[in-house]
Amino acid sequence: MRRRSKRTESNFFVPLSFNAIIFPMSEIHHIKCKTDNCYLVTNGRNAVLVDTASGEGYDAVLAECSKYDLKLIVLTHVHFDHAENAARLSEHFNVPVAFHEADLELFDSFDRQPMESYGLVGKVVLGMSLKVLRNTVVNKPANTFFIKEGDSLSPYGIDAKVIELPGHTKGSVGIDVEGKDLLVGDALDNWISPATGHLYNDLDAVKKSAARIMSLGPRTLYYGHGKPTENKFKLFR
Ligand SMILES: [Zn+2]
Ligand SMILES: [Zn+2]
Repeated sequence: MRRRSKRTESNFFVPLSFNAIIFPMSEIHHIKCKTDNCYLVTNGRNAVLVDTASGEGYDAVLAECSKYDLKLIVLTHVHFDHAENAARLSEHFNVPVAFHEADLELFDSFDRQPMESYGLVGKVVLGMSLKVLRNTVVNKPANTFFIKEGDSLSPYGIDAKVIELPGHTKGSVGIDVEGKDLLVGDALDNWISPATGHLYNDLDAVKKSAARIMSLGPRTLYYGHGKPTENKFKLFR
């Protein structure tokens, strides 16, 4: 039986500046769906889901989200392995889906932002992904809004900020949680070892985004693919 958290809509009319005091520190819950990762950022009560996995991960994501009062779904970018369940989950929990405007076109077609790769890992992953990327239609959720650099998620009960990390896709973003945990989407990946994202739409941009992540200092990095690491990885130059 699927359980759904009781909604307490009226409890959150608090001044945003007090959120950090009122809400306890956030935890990152890893939801692993085969090779796709998504993350539930929660303070124990409210939660924001970052990425939604591909279709087959729906039940696992639904089960984890149902333990909390889900407030928002954020997409690090609009590829099927991050966004395919967004529309269904948004409808189920009656919450909006936030993503960067530059990725809006990817709901029409993956080919709006063609991908290339570097290295052997990139070649293998791209080879395995291309057909599915091209053939999977990602349904656009009905309830959406755009996010950009510096936007705060505190209205959703989480002390986190959006940082733009373009390159893998034009609208790729990361979510910086309390300046200690960074959800990077596919700007970096950890297929075998942590590195600049092996697949990219814009090589120069993905290199700059990786360098930016490195410059942020101590963080735990949470990848779209692979296990979390500290903020140490191989920069592709
Ligand atoms: Zn991707
Ligand atoms: Zn991915």
